[in-house]
Amino acid sequence: MSTVTKSKSKTFSKTKNKKFVYFFGGGKAEGDAKLKQLLGGKGANLAEMTNLGIPVPPGFTISTETCNLFYEEGNKWPAGLEEQVKANIQKLETTMGAKFGSRDNPLLVSVRSGAAVSMPGMMDTILNLGLNSEVVQGLIIKTENERFAWDSYRRFIQMFGNVVMNVSHDAFEHILEKTKHKAGVKLDTELNANDLKEVVRQYKKAYQEKTGEEFPSDPWIQLQKSINAVFSSWNNPRALKYRELNEIRGLLGTAVNVQSMVFGNMGDTSGTGVCFTRDPSTGENMFYGEYLMNAQGEDVVAGIRTPAPLSQLKSQNPEMYRQLCKFRDKLERHYRDMQDIEFTIQEGKLYILQTRGGKRTAHAAVRIAVEMVKEKMLTQSQGILRVQPNQLDQLLHPRFDPKEKKNKIAKGLPASPGAATGRVVFDADVAEEWVKQKKEKVILVRIETSPEDIGGMHVAEGILTARGGMTSHAAVVARGMGKCCVAGCGDIHIDYAAKQFTAGGATVKEGDYISLDGSLGEVYLGKVSTLEPEMSGHFATLMKWADATRRLRVRTNGDTPTDARVARKFGAEGIGLCRTEHMFFEGDRIVSVREMILADDTAGREAALSKLLPMQRKDFEGIFEEMNGLPVTVRLLDPPLHEFVPHEEAAQQELAKSIGTSLEAVRRKVALLHEMNPMLGHRGCRLGITYPEIYNMQTRAIMEAACNMKKKGIKVIPEIMIPLVGTVKELTILKADMEKVIEQVFSEKKIKVDHMIGTMIEIPRAAIVADKIAEVAQFFSFGTNDLTQMTFGYSRDDSGNFLKVYVEKGILEKDPFQSIDQEGVGALIQWGIQRGRSVRKDLKVGICGEHGGDPATVEFCDRIGMNYVSCSPYRVPIARLAAAQAVVRAKQK
Ligand code: PEP
Ligand code: MG
Repeated sequence: MSTVTKSKSKTFSKTKNKKFVYFFGGGKAEGDAKLKQLLGGKGANLAEMTNLGIPVPPGFTISTETCNLFYEEGNKWPAGLEEQVKANIQKLETTMGAKFGSRDNPLLVSVRSGAAVSMPGMMDTILNLGLNSEVVQGLIIKTENERFAWDSYRRFIQMFGNVVMNVSHDAFEHILEKTKHKAGVKLDTELNANDLKEVVRQYKKAYQEKTGEEFPSDPWIQLQKSINAVFSSWNNPRALKYRELNEIRGLLGTAVNVQSMVFGNMGDTSGTGVCFTRDPSTGENMFYGEYLMNAQGEDVVAGIRTPAPLSQLKSQNPEMYRQLCKFRDKLERHYRDMQDIEFTIQEGKLYILQTRGGKRTAHAAVRIAVEMVKEKMLTQSQGILRVQPNQLDQLLHPRFDPKEKKNKIAKGLPASPGAATGRVVFDADVAEEWVKQKKEKVILVRIETSPEDIGGMHVAEGILTARGGMTSHAAVVARGMGKCCVAGCGDIHIDYAAKQFTAGGATVKEGDYISLDGSLGEVYLGKVSTLEPEMSGHFATLMKWADATRRLRVRTNGDTPTDARVARKFGAEGIGLCRTEHMFFEGDRIVSVREMILADDTAGREAALSKLLPMQRKDFEGIFEEMNGLPVTVRLLDPPLHEFVPHEEAAQQELAKSIGTSLEAVRRKVALLHEMNPMLGHRGCRLGITYPEIYNMQTRAIMEAACNMKKKGIKVIPEIMIPLVGTVKELTILKADMEKVIEQVFSEKKIKVDHMIGTMIEIPRAAIVADKIAEVAQFFSFGTNDLTQMTFGYSRDDSGNFLKVYVEKGILEKDPFQSIDQEGVGALIQWGIQRGRSVRKDLKVGICGEHGGDPATVEFCDRIGMNYVSCSPYRVPIARLAAAQAVVRAKQK
């Protein structure tokens, strides 16, 4: 048997007796809303509405499975489909008392696509299918409206020609324009029946010229071709792109809805409109929408005539308005969600053509969820699930006024949300100078940032980098600061020497204004004005419900008292990661840090460290004060030392002068610090092992600050954390040293403070031997940035380019630096927790990598029994809601 026949018979047995087509009409449907995957959102809702007794024009839905089989068969209908479509057409004829292709009593239909997920970009609608030169005569007799019949016919030819055969709209519009000109009229509606009859003749001619074939007059051929066009539109470039951008995967295909036509353009007692059961931009419980009398849906969309607000229908046609309000209530109560409804009035009779969950802004989502709970339409748990955690972002940051977003020149990664406008500078020092001296607002634009740039990043309104991913230095630091950042923006080409960058055909020079939308990763030329965030009462209510539901605690990653204050305002319950190195760059202290690094011996290092001690102590005091009563996890020094020293000659010269040594000595030392792979080199606890005096100074600063604050009546809960541990011995040695320092501080200060010493688990080996580590460590915090980097072997700074391709090709489902790889990295985490708790039952476990603010990761952390997640201040509310949703979903399961 040939392979071809073999595969054919396989498909045939798969499709034998298969139901492809589902009828709805006459008050009964074969499907319902639960069959959304099979019938698509539109088809499932049409069936559901029919069962509810809502006046839906009858029709049938060809399932999404059929679309999939169409592709498997090499763009052919599976066996049995033709019979089922024909049988359903007959059923429709009986229900409607009309006949497909009949001159005496014609049945016309619409054909629409409809996948399980609403997907703009797929096939447009075809209306009035079934018309030909015979049937149009029947329509004239039936409607006693010759103009309407010819208008319907010409619209059908245009839609069919465009959607099914790809004839451009222009080819048809051109004919219409010429006819209007000849008739001496301005509007389509002013053309009479004879004009339109002539338009039909010319449309058919144009169709033949463009496609090389005659316009099909057989309604059955028209229908077959339209169904095929819907199936094919599933894989058109627009639809593919939409699914890629919105990460829509795992769907079978699109369904096809064939529905009997109702006409909104049959005179002044007919009309069409769209309405929302609540206001989609504010969420207010008001009936919102617009309509047009004597029009078809496409007239509303095309914007040729301006629709009237729905409130006007109340006076224009009170009976229609009353009925519409009745269906509004019925549909909203039934679906328990705000609905987006399309309706048509045909000669005084109201039909509902479509209902679906309405798209809404974040403000509206929160308000609708909270009010529906108060109206007892939803339970509190259901209300909590109604808002996507990431949507909250829109509520926490200033955002651009959508009306003003015009000159987009580039798009990068949405690394840190918010909106910022300022003058471009290319150097961190220049940024500081312009802000401090010239009082300018600046945007720092760099190929990538490094810790040296921290001062400039701090003063900038926003940060734009050409390279780097979501966990690059710029992204992490900006998120921590709550500062808007667009990272990895390959569209911009920076020329530092010329102090300019080019993007999207524009050249932007130092001092020019640009605007960044960090929530979307967009770059705009010029100034764009912003709208300030409002934390409305509804937001607070939703958060209160989330807090009462969740199990996970939510902490923040913060390095300064300001971070701590902002995070507390957003509901943080402690600091989960204070990266002490960020403090090393503040003000003049970088000089002492460099002096320490360049010192030749322990004594030299200790002398420099003693200058740093009071500064660090002061920072910690500030943080403890802000976090009064809440735990503060401070991580000891982590980055490789070379990140703190200057690499350019002028700066090296300046450093040599300020610490009284030669340029040559500085150069030599910097060269010695050079590493091929610094991220895998001399960093983290390896620094503490080789230079114990550094960690000892930091431990002293933390504990002196804790004692001082306790004396002032502040409740301090310090947790000292050692980074990058791989073996238990590292931890044993360091912990012993630190305990000695802590005892000394207690005896000097004559006071003791409860504290813990724990570790980060960010090296795979540490996760594997977590039982040994837990014998020494009093808590674990998973550093999932490094853990992901080292588990995959992907550099967190350089993987942006290929990871994009990996996600596109489906090798990875998501960027593993944004959302935890549950299968691999997640397995290590689970192993680590289980091993750790096998020796220390009450081991406190958290996560402090960037993943801590990602909703899917938060759900995972809840499921595997972590105690807390820690994320940047602005993500705290997102994590609070995600943690509550995790609990609700777990209960549902
Ligand atoms: C981590 O590795 O996840 C972490 C939090 O540490 P850092 O990002 O500072 O390396
Ligand atoms: Mg790390």
